[in-house]
Amino acid sequence: MRIQETPNSSELVTYAPFTLFPTPVPKAVFLQALAVQTHYNTLVDKISQDTDFLEEALSSTIAVDDFTARLFKLHQQILKEGRSQSIVLGLNRSDYMLDQRDDGSSSLKQIEINTFAASFGGLSSRTPDVHRHVLKVAGRLEESQNILDNNPAAGLARAVAKAWELYGSESDGQEVAVVYFRNGYMPQNYISEQTWDARLLMERSLAVKCPDISTHLAGTKKVQQVLTRPGVLEKFFPDQPQVVEQIRATFAGLYTLDMGPEGDKTVTMALEEPDRYVLKPQREGGGNNIYGSEICQVLQGVKGSTERMAYILMDKIHPAPVQNYLLRRDAPLQLNNCLSELGVFGTYVRQGKDMVMNECVGHLLRTKSSEHSDGGVAAGVAVLDNPLLI
Ligand code: ADP
Ligand code: MG
Ligand code: MG
Repeated sequence: MRIQETPNSSELVTYAPFTLFPTPVPKAVFLQALAVQTHYNTLVDKISQDTDFLEEALSSTIAVDDFTARLFKLHQQILKEGRSQSIVLGLNRSDYMLDQRDDGSSSLKQIEINTFAASFGGLSSRTPDVHRHVLKVAGRLEESQNILDNNPAAGLARAVAKAWELYGSESDGQEVAVVYFRNGYMPQNYISEQTWDARLLMERSLAVKCPDISTHLAGTKKVQQVLTRPGVLEKFFPDQPQVVEQIRATFAGLYTLDMGPEGDKTVTMALEEPDRYVLKPQREGGGNNIYGSEICQVLQGVKGSTERMAYILMDKIHPAPVQNYLLRRDAPLQLNNCLSELGVFGTYVRQGKDMVMNECVGHLLRTKSSEHSDGGVAAGVAVLDNPLLI
């Protein structure tokens, strides 16, 4: 990784932070996360095509959240003009934590789904060898053979290549076939009207967008909350009760803060027991959520006004802490109580009505010290890890 002191140098760099040891993960739960991924791909894609659903789900949010409102406006403009391209490329990552039950077993709970998610595909393709080596050196040879192969980079690239192939232009040196947004999910990415113009230009272009503006909106936390309402999954999978069940099994409790009795109930619940919940605004990239007593402070300020509709409330997931060392440049080496988050990469390519490709292409395990309630690897909190299936 490049470092802060020499941000433009490719010579003065450091290693990407990682755990010294892999983290035990129950095999059944791991396989459950892989198995549901293609259904999540289908779900995100269906939502992105359901204009009425998106409008209804996001109507309260966009009334008070300027950034989501601006994205929604762009979405409406594209719909009005007509979508320029019928090929859609999705590179998703569904993130989970393992909630510890009273009997000691754990259950897979989705934290969120990301539709801008390719960035750790490369690094997580390289970390299995690191942990195999560490375990060998530590004399744990048998366990070293249990570190799974993982190559999301190859799977993500396969989907990009498929989209490129379907785009079907021989003049590529000149024409952009596929746009992948590495950035564009944070308000800070849109520093001027010009940046919004650039986004609009890309959305209007013939290129295959990943994600396109509707898929971007499908990945919002408000949509995630609306999906947990009774009957919503059934609407997207009318003839597939098993798929509905498989997806719903991974849902944590999510609660609306819209105006009305239901939202009022959410406020009361959160104020009574703030430590049981996480308060989330419509933001990405780590470090935006609100925890503990701060939930009360924020809610006291917004509970009587429509401002509260910018948030959703979520049950806090409690994974069992595992001891490990986090290896990070400039950080003291000490044994930490750690919590892990499992991500599963999914890819799909749709052309018009045909799903041409829908795959689960690998995983990512990120681990952080339990002192931190929020933040990913890029935010400097979590480090790269590997599951050791047990
Ligand atoms: P972002 O889009 O910013 O990554 P997330 O919903 O993934 O937002 O939240 C950021 C981090 O906060 C997660 O990586 C996780 O560590 C923590 N977190 C989020 N939701 C929960 C939850 N329900 N229970 C426990 N921790 C959570
Ligand atoms: Mg996110
Ligand atoms: Mg996240």
